Amino acid sequence: MPKKVLISACLLGEFCRYDGKTKKDTLLLEKLKDYTLVPFCPEAPSLGTPRERISVVKIDNDYRLLVDSTKKDVTKLIKNETYKVLNKKFDFAILKSKSPSCGDKTTPILNTNFSLIGYDDGIACKILKDAGIEVYDENNFKG
Ligand code: SF4
Repeated sequence: MPKKVLISACLLGEFCRYDGKTKKDTLLLEKLKDYTLVPFCPEAPSLGTPRERISVVKIDNDYRLLVDSTKKDVTKLIKNETYKVLNKKFDFAILKSKSPSCGDKTTPILNTNFSLIGYDDGIACKILKDAGIEVYDENNFKG
């Protein structure tokens, strides 16, 4: 049985990024040609595509996902979308670096003035890791 991999849908070639574009990674897909790929995008189903840009903001020692332009808090939507995939069976995950939802230690973390204060896991990545799932990104997955 080929191993099953949960993968950010934009890396697969889906046009699900906030700007309506994709981040298809052909080198990564070549490494994964013998795996069964399970597409995952925690933002597009609830926020639509294209959509306003969102960021991780540290508020009272908690990470929240806010829409940059309106400051609307969409954390719950993204978390709920991520909880749904925990029921699917897969061996590990490969998520898009730097994304507020998917980043693996590469997500910019902002303060309430929207100034950069560091880098950490995106909101969906953190949920997967807390569930015991091994997470890579397109840069550190060796194949
Ligand atoms: S939320 Fe993740 S899968 Fe969806 S477009 Fe952003 S990086 Fe890609």
